[in-house]
Amino acid sequence: MTERTLDAAASSACGCKVGRISEQYDLIGLDEELVSYWTDRTDDRYSTRDLAEHVNQRVLEAALDDAGLQYKDGEVENTYRLLTGDDVSSGTRVQTRKELERDAVPVEDVESDFVSHQTVYNHLTGCLEASLESPSDEERLERSRDKLGALRNRTAAVTEDTVAQLERSDVLDIGEFNVLVTVTVTCEDCKQQYTIRDLLDQGSCRCAESDA
Ligand SMILES: [Zn+2]
Ligand SMILES: [Zn+2]
Repeated sequence: MTERTLDAAASSACGCKVGRISEQYDLIGLDEELVSYWTDRTDDRYSTRDLAEHVNQRVLEAALDDAGLQYKDGEVENTYRLLTGDDVSSGTRVQTRKELERDAVPVEDVESDFVSHQTVYNHLTGCLEASLESPSDEERLERSRDKLGALRNRTAAVTEDTVAQLERSDVLDIGEFNVLVTVTVTCEDCKQQYTIRDLLDQGSCRCAESDA
């Protein structure tokens, strides 16, 4: 798909959130950028998270332009970080939003136009029909599911053997038994627990989802 050219009509035709904001903010060349950054064969290749950040920074930049603001090199990136960064205090965030509002930037609207990595992924693979020759996020998830599933089965088998052996030598007393292996992952940010299976299906912790 790297060689395919994307005409403007194709990008405005898609009704997903990326297509919508691309049209609304007049983000010229966005689709071409997304595809080429994503399919880049070098180490500079963007992850879908990087791409979402890129889209959102372009949205923010367009909003600053619309408000007639002047900004220096790197200022859009920095403002984006202040609005969304995990390492930014809520006081700083509130201050940043206030300043933008004072400068007539509709912060709330802009923030609700920010997209998630999943939305970008769907736009790339669904609307633009882009694909990677290196494994896609979906393929990697699928492989990881298989690998962890095999590991769980092995853990269950070894556990079953061990219990049965101990029972045979009268060290352990138990009736008919079943072994169930569940691996849970806890997000330390919000303490939410997931089975590894649910987490892989979901693709991110609830607390990390900025939009649906
Ligand atoms: Zn789309
Ligand atoms: Zn979380």
